Amino acid sequence: METLKTLIIGSGPAGYTAAIYAARADLKPILYTGMEPGGQLTTTTEVDNFPGYPDGIDGPTMMVQLQQQAERFGTEVRIGFINKVEFATQKGEMHKAFAEDGTEIYAQTIIISTGATAKYLGLPSEQRLRGGGVSACAVCDGFFYKGQDVAIVGGGDTAAEEATYLAKICSKVTMLVRKDEMRASKAMQHRVTSTPNIDLRYNTEIDEVLGEQVVEGLRMKNNQTGALEEIPITGLFIAIGHKPNTEIFKGQLDMDEAGYLITKGKTTETNLSGVFASGDVQDKDYRQAVTAAGTGCMAALDAERYLQGI
Ligand code: NDP
Repeated sequence: METLKTLIIGSGPAGYTAAIYAARADLKPILYTGMEPGGQLTTTTEVDNFPGYPDGIDGPTMMVQLQQQAERFGTEVRIGFINKVEFATQKGEMHKAFAEDGTEIYAQTIIISTGATAKYLGLPSEQRLRGGGVSACAVCDGFFYKGQDVAIVGGGDTAAEEATYLAKICSKVTMLVRKDEMRASKAMQHRVTSTPNIDLRYNTEIDEVLGEQVVEGLRMKNNQTGALEEIPITGLFIAIGHKPNTEIFKGQLDMDEAGYLITKGKTTETNLSGVFASGDVQDKDYRQAVTAAGTGCMAALDAERYLQGI
């Protein structure tokens, strides 16, 4: 059993920024990385919009640097995940967290930065072929489809970014957008429409992923006309948004209907004393690396103030 001032759960920009601030405030934080050390940015290519990188930086490099920065001030980073937390309900009481390796941690404050995870469509054929050509991460898996025809579903920034990434590796990318417009930013839309080997289909959804063991094709449906069309592909990428990673906090922390943690006013405070939330786990509106980092900073400052007051 360990006793600490601050436990940080999650290793995206929010978690590491919270760690930098908490460590500099001498809170001696321990950070558990979770299932995907470095978080969502490790699955992205260029990050062009994080201030301070005039030439951009690739996501995995940025996350390694954030980890090093957090460690430089004394954060202990542990590769592993917390699978249960018993939150104290009274101010000043210790929260109890259980790591997957059996470690039990008593913490005065907990900063939750567990982020969000990719969503899938839920079609049986899509689920059957996950790992057999269906993926939610173009950057992780795109390489396997070098020189081949693939498809991507979604109309947000993720889909646009991944479609342009895939277009560099694959011979053709069919992009399915269910509405007659894309949600992605104008700049990202421009990138898509100016890439010659992206075949952009509006008002189009997946009717069925074809193939038994591996993806062999796609049956698409135009949701305006009902017309069906089959195309041969070997890879299908799903880029339709994310779900917050809050399962283990259900019943203890206040969440909205989608499962995002609710924080009070302009703070990172949850409904329980000494428990703070930062990053995508509490933000379904902005969801940027820089906003996640900003709220990570806020969570550490909130935790420090809370500790001073007990
Ligand atoms: P979004 O929620 O922004 O977009 C999801 C997309 O998937 C929408 O086009 C949505 O369609 C579509 N979709 C959802 N469900 C289905 C379904 N069942 N079938 C077909 N299509 C579906 O998620 P993103 O992951 O794209 O982006 C999340 C956040 O991260 C955003 O704020 C985005 O700006 C940001 N981001 C920024 C990047 C950058 O700046 N470099 C890169 C990547 C993401 P509809 O519009 O019809 O609802």
